[in-house]
Amino acid sequence: MLSYLHGFHAGNFADVHKHSALVLILAHLQKKAKPFSVIDTHAGAGWYDLSSVQAQKTGEWQGGIAAVQREAQVPLAMVPYLDLIDDFVPDNRGFGAGSEDGSNGDEPSVPPLYYPGSPFIVQKMLREDDHLTVMELHPREYETLDRRLYHDRRVTLQKRDGYEGLVAMVPPAIRRGLVLMDPSYDVKQDYVRAARSIIAAHRRWATATYMLWYPILEDGFDLELHDMFSQIPATGGVLCSEIAASHGGGKGRMLGSGLLIVNPPYQLDEQLANIGDWLRDVVDLPGPGVHFQDWLVKAQ
Ligand code: SAM
Repeated sequence: MLSYLHGFHAGNFADVHKHSALVLILAHLQKKAKPFSVIDTHAGAGWYDLSSVQAQKTGEWQGGIAAVQREAQVPLAMVPYLDLIDDFVPDNRGFGAGSEDGSNGDEPSVPPLYYPGSPFIVQKMLREDDHLTVMELHPREYETLDRRLYHDRRVTLQKRDGYEGLVAMVPPAIRRGLVLMDPSYDVKQDYVRAARSIIAAHRRWATATYMLWYPILEDGFDLELHDMFSQIPATGGVLCSEIAASHGGGKGRMLGSGLLIVNPPYQLDEQLANIGDWLRDVVDLPGPGVHFQDWLVKAQ
């Protein structure tokens, strides 16, 4: 069952949390000249028009990226992410009739306000010899992404199950790298499937950084995730970062955003701590904000 469309949620507080961490990890990989590879297991459509019908319907981006952009002072660690978002302009060659974001195949609406999803955030930070593999299962999201990415020889797109695909494709030829897993959690089994996939991939590719995003709901499915990630024998440790409302979620409404990061790069814990303390008070959560951060497995 694939009912989720990220266009309704692009640029919300969870995207800000996840994508600011993503940019910091990529910036760390860029510090060495040696190439790196990224695997994005659940890619979405690539980028989103925030003036589209989908985005306007929920308006979630107003309490996420727009709230952050309104602030005069931001933590230093957020600057690379915000610069990337500010500079993002989609390549018009990727436009096509009837695309998922509500565009009609003509020139972008005016004034255009676009938010890049994970594949385009990574693409912006790839160098000549770096590589990105993206997987997406939803037929129309896949087609949209395919049109938008077609011209980049550094990127491979597969219409494939991201959980199974990840385990089958690691380790990649380029051994420095990052795996981003950002499922849609259409079904509650996604929590366990995500954890099992990352645990199996880590056995084959132990040096990579893995980042899993998960929604914090009142049902508490995330607690099982914490248990499973606590068992991963990662030499670089396992870091957990959560921004959530202490209460106020209500049935089906997301209380908060969580990240589990296996082998986080040096000083990411400090950077995320600063970001989390700040975001908790700036973004639109469904109740009073709480920021939690801890090592589930200590780095050796
Ligand atoms: N990572 C994207 C970003 O940051 O912009 C957003 C991804 S969205 C939360 C999740 C995506 O995963 C959806 O587009 C959905 O169609 C896709 N999806 C759902 N189940 C999948 C699976 N088993 N394998 C690959 N993609 C899947």
